[in-house]
Amino acid sequence: MFYTESFDVIIIGGGHAGTEAALAPARMGLKTLLLTHNIETIGQMSCNPAIGGIGKGHIVKEIDALGGAMAHAADKGGIQFRTLNASKGPAVRATRAQADRSLYKAAIREMVEAEENLQIFMQGVDDLIIENDRVVGVSTEMGLKFKAKAVVLTVGTFLGGKIHIGMENHSGGRMGDPPSIALADRLREMPFRVDRLKTGTPARIDSRSIDYSKLQEQPGDTPIPTFSYMGKKEDHPEQISCHITYTNSRTHDIIRASLDRSPLYSGVIDGVGPRYCPSIEDKIVRFADKDSHQIFIEPEGLNTYEIYPNGISTSMPFDVQFEFIRSIEGFENAHITRPGYAIEYDFFDPRDLKPTLETKFIDGLFFAGQINGTTGYEEAGAQGLLAATNAALQVQGKDSWFPKRSEAYIGVMVDDLITHGTQEPYRMFTSRAEHRLLLREDNADLRLTEIGYKIGLVDEERWRAFNIKREQVEVEMQRLRDTVMHPADVNAEQNERIFKGSLSREYRLNELLRRPNVSYADLMSIDKFGPAVEDPKVAEQVEVQFKYAGYIDRQQLEIDKQKNHEETVLPDDFDYSTIKGGLSNEALQKLQDQKPTTIGQASRIPGITPATISILMVHLKKHR
Ligand code: FAD
Repeated sequence: MFYTESFDVIIIGGGHAGTEAALAPARMGLKTLLLTHNIETIGQMSCNPAIGGIGKGHIVKEIDALGGAMAHAADKGGIQFRTLNASKGPAVRATRAQADRSLYKAAIREMVEAEENLQIFMQGVDDLIIENDRVVGVSTEMGLKFKAKAVVLTVGTFLGGKIHIGMENHSGGRMGDPPSIALADRLREMPFRVDRLKTGTPARIDSRSIDYSKLQEQPGDTPIPTFSYMGKKEDHPEQISCHITYTNSRTHDIIRASLDRSPLYSGVIDGVGPRYCPSIEDKIVRFADKDSHQIFIEPEGLNTYEIYPNGISTSMPFDVQFEFIRSIEGFENAHITRPGYAIEYDFFDPRDLKPTLETKFIDGLFFAGQINGTTGYEEAGAQGLLAATNAALQVQGKDSWFPKRSEAYIGVMVDDLITHGTQEPYRMFTSRAEHRLLLREDNADLRLTEIGYKIGLVDEERWRAFNIKREQVEVEMQRLRDTVMHPADVNAEQNERIFKGSLSREYRLNELLRRPNVSYADLMSIDKFGPAVEDPKVAEQVEVQFKYAGYIDRQQLEIDKQKNHEETVLPDDFDYSTIKGGLSNEALQKLQDQKPTTIGQASRIPGITPATISILMVHLKKHR
């Protein structure tokens, strides 16, 4: 039976990719439907209740700059905020929020429910309706069919999901949720390349059974950072501390003695786990010389006693989990509220996707989130936003949009995925970006909000606020360029404290700001040059842009050099076999298999040499 209404875009799955995906086309004015297993789990954090961190925080800011939901929810749900790498350069500074799991979920649900053009329906999807290689709708577990012009699939760890605790395993999407078996079987019949990955989570502990007197306290930052560019400090709930403890050699002995009952080491789990977020048994085997690993004790919320011991995710049998947890300082009487477990699931080779995250085999079908081989809420959210935006643009008959590597971490992630695929759960790091001084947390709005507004993702309120900020930055930068400081403007104490006594001639303020130890606040503390601009985010922008101007200009120059490659499009139907005299069999095979969208992307495919790129460029020039 067909549902009476039809939709522009249908999103399957209400996780982190799915909620950003559902909100984007709706913001763009399209009739959108979110189909998900369970309305109560919309926005649920499957693993640790935290948003952001190095690389991931950058993505959250980019989602926010494009009008997305994650940063708002983190502001409303965040119970401890920190700026990581605060003393390092601006490229690697990153915001991280410990979240109250329920507040975060409630904030996401509120935004989803409030969105005018978005309907929600609670049903598992079992099948896609495909006509002439184009998706035209979906069919649910009760046989209800929905028509749509485009579909975004964001089903996370649920496809063929298998949960492992020790040698026991059972089917599941995550603990307490059903897997997606019918849909997984159906997708396996399609031409996509499918493989298995795994991820894991630690046992949770009742905080009343922890001896906090033995632990190191870790308070959040003051003033409390906000995640959203539109965020206010009043958005934050009560703030609380995290704590730190460590595993010890006894913990490691207990785990080592039971490795034969570990599904990971006895061959029960085939899927590859996240190298950068390994289970505790993995750490003990891989870093055998270390006799201690740090554990962050993260509260799960303000109104719950459960804590998340970050750093000891495990799929060891429960009796081993119990014993090793009780060997840890402060956990001697720990009461476990939920066991740790690992989950194996299907993911699809992202090389079968276009940079819009549309599949190469079925028109109008987009994939986003964990099913593309990534791990993390932030990575998932960003893909959901990008995929659904492009689904919406396609429905509107407009050109697609995706950021370049030089424009956003989202661009870096998608280019990495579609060019290289992934052999392990992919997560974001700042080191993945070659232009990281341009891709800072502090300027994600300057990089993306304008395009977000043009596409229809950004509302008027954000657009107005953004323009005010952008203008204030420009005006203040110009004032600093135009203002000269004479030695007579500072007294001896100021000259010594701020300039180490070196202010012996006149300088423009922007030149002084380039000096390593001179801050914007220092300059504004001198009577004649203050007061500083009121908005600290404007002040930060002015300071960063001047202080790092040399490096930023150099990176911009490199980008300009590569611009030609990045903008030279290789058409979808480009027949590489027609190129006479030159392409090696290997290059031909790779280009035909992968169908890169630009010369820039082609140049990043392993095995494609500069010589191949020259041949392609010559061929394109001749046949233009
Ligand atoms: P999910 O958040 O999983 O959401 C999928 C949604 O789709 C759910 O709402 C589900 O109900 C729905 N759904 C599934 N199938 C269907 C269907 N057929 N029809 C309708 N709805 C459907 N990330 C980290 O960064 N670090 C970690 O340490 C970490 N550990 C993890 C441990 C575990 C055990 C799990 C399960 C996840 C872990 N993650 C971790 C990953 C993080 O939870 C995911 O990356 C993130 O949630 C992915 O978002 P998503 O939207 O792709 O999928």
